[in-house]
Amino acid sequence: MHMSLKKLCSLTGMVLLSPFLQLDKDLLAHVSSPPTLSLSEIRNDTLEWPRPRFDERKKERYRMVEKGIKAGGITDETTLEAMRHVPRHLFVPDPLRLFAYQNRPLPIGNGQTISQPYIVAYMTQALNLKAGEKVLEIGTGSGYQAAVLSEITPRVYTIEIVEELGKIARARFKELGYKTIKTKIGDGYKGWEEHAPFDAIILTAAAEEIPPALIRQLKPDGIMIMPEGAPGTVQELIKVTKTGDGNIQTEKLLPVRFVPMTRED
Ligand code: SAH
Repeated sequence: MHMSLKKLCSLTGMVLLSPFLQLDKDLLAHVSSPPTLSLSEIRNDTLEWPRPRFDERKKERYRMVEKGIKAGGITDETTLEAMRHVPRHLFVPDPLRLFAYQNRPLPIGNGQTISQPYIVAYMTQALNLKAGEKVLEIGTGSGYQAAVLSEITPRVYTIEIVEELGKIARARFKELGYKTIKTKIGDGYKGWEEHAPFDAIILTAAAEEIPPALIRQLKPDGIMIMPEGAPGTVQELIKVTKTGDGNIQTEKLLPVRFVPMTRED
């Protein structure tokens, strides 16, 4: 039971790959169509939408929020509440579930990682989302960040470039009941034109510059949170605000380390 995470992670390539593919197959069995929710199911008057609830490992989740997130200075109650509800252990590969409520990133397969819970909360708080607002995420990964956002607003759009990860996340949303999240497999550098403009955009992979299409797809007064910098270096988490007249202002928030944004060939 006490194998260190480091050791487990160093074995990741070999140990994780097969259970991960198993998970993939199981989940893919459920993918017939992407989860969709008709507009009539989102009640605009009261803004109620389906948000699944999980009792399993609730204590650990609450503790993670107290000790790892609140204690780290996150104060926004909407963000804290969202983090209390999403079952992170169901977003990581089986062999790593034990570590799901520790405040650290974990590998999710295909060389990618699920971010540290504190960073997920930090970015969520920085987006300052209101129920009913439209948010675009670039880098679905495990789907965890998108699920956290879907606790705050039913209008979450998320794009993943690695097909395998995108399909697993889509199946996971369906399986767990995150019905409102809209998924796409493709290059998020180009944004999601059909659903633009967005009130907020979050990148969970580091880009060397602010993707111009994403600026275009952001509403005036919209906020974009992204890690900026070259792969392998310590990047800067930045907040980009589009002003009413279409200009942008950027503000440095925090040094971070994210996987790089990749591009379609
Ligand atoms: N938000 C994720 C963490 C993702 S790690 C979570 O909660 O688990 C970053 C993800 O961005 C990886 O899955 C990677 O494949 C994806 N990615 C990298 N470049 C991308 C691009 N151009 N468009 C969409 N996704 C991209």
